Amino acid sequence: MLNGLEPGGVWVYAEQGTDGIRPVVCELLGQAVRLAGELEQTVTAVLVGGTEEQAASLATCGADRILLAEVPDEALPDERTHTEVLERLAEKYQPAILLLGATAFGRSLAPRLAARLGTGLTADCTGLEIDPETGLLRQTRPAFGGNLMATIVCPERTPQMATVRPKVFPMPVPSLNREVRVIRERIDATEHCFEFLERLPSADETDIGAADVLVSIGQGIGGAENIALAEKLARRLGGTLSSSRPLVDSGVMPYVRQVGQTGKTVAPKLYLALGISGAIQHMAGVAAKTIVAVNTDPDAPIFGYAHYAIRCDCGSFLRALLEKD
Ligand SMILES: Cc1cc2nc3c(=O)[nH]c(=O)nc-3n(C[C@H](O)[C@H](O)[C@H](O)COP(=O)(O)OP(=O)(O)OC[C@H]3O[C@@H](n4cnc5c(N)ncnc54)[C@H](O)[C@@H]3O)c2cc1C
Repeated sequence: MLNGLEPGGVWVYAEQGTDGIRPVVCELLGQAVRLAGELEQTVTAVLVGGTEEQAASLATCGADRILLAEVPDEALPDERTHTEVLERLAEKYQPAILLLGATAFGRSLAPRLAARLGTGLTADCTGLEIDPETGLLRQTRPAFGGNLMATIVCPERTPQMATVRPKVFPMPVPSLNREVRVIRERIDATEHCFEFLERLPSADETDIGAADVLVSIGQGIGGAENIALAEKLARRLGGTLSSSRPLVDSGVMPYVRQVGQTGKTVAPKLYLALGISGAIQHMAGVAAKTIVAVNTDPDAPIFGYAHYAIRCDCGSFLRALLEKD
């Protein structure tokens, strides 16, 4: 045992965004608690350049230990610092499992780290289980364009690494007043080589993952006029406009608005799908409480997912609805 941290255990990388620790970290900690319970091991969150307060918030999500890596401030924004820190800590403490959020940062960090550690990585997992016989992590993810689910194990190397997209797993119920041990590690990351000047906001910073109401448009929406009506309806419902991938691929909508396997996973209270067929790759990202689908094709697959199916032209539907107060 090193610094009170036994080898093995389930680790979660506590990624920080501009607003603090990303919510996906807490979602992952919820799963880590379940997995570690089955393995009778502990849950450790790795925080690079964070504060005691942040460490405490990770404890409420289920972390038993916090590895707080202290790195020079100027090295913090560089992804290579995080790779180096995680590599050194993993080599020192030998975790059994390491989970990361499949955010833009995590998607770049995880494969780089897996290569450094000489281990396997399963990206975009939708299911994580412990095999009762082998104790290995069974990592399930959609494969072949979402047409089948593959369960992958990494039997020979550790840590067993997986990324999970935000909102795939629910937030755990916070557990207050938990005892947590903070282990500080000073790491003089050497690899950073760029200087962080300022953060420029992107043209569209909308977070469709945070919306309670999504009005989502697909190829059947028609032209710009109907898109403007859909946007108006979204505003009126206090919601946000999102879309299927073809509208993103054709440049009509920005990528941040894309729902689905290669876009965002969303879990709004209401998902109003306008002219979306309901392809499996799209629906892989929809975890809505209520789905309302508007489509002219009675056989559209989306009707198989919808709680309310409206067989109608999108434009007519939007105009009729917006006429109402
Ligand atoms: C590896 C991979 C990853 C992918 N990732 C994603 C992803 O993340 N997100 C995603 O969305 N897709 C993704 N796709 C693409 C996906 O397979 C579908 O092609 C896509 O979702 C279809 O988009 P759509 O429903 O807008 O278009 P379509 O499938 O063309 O459907 C249009 C629908 O509009 C209806 N319609 C037509 N006219 C009207 C009208 N006037 N009024 C009402 N309804 C009308 C039609 O009946 C039809 O059902 C991925 C594909 C692959 C292979």
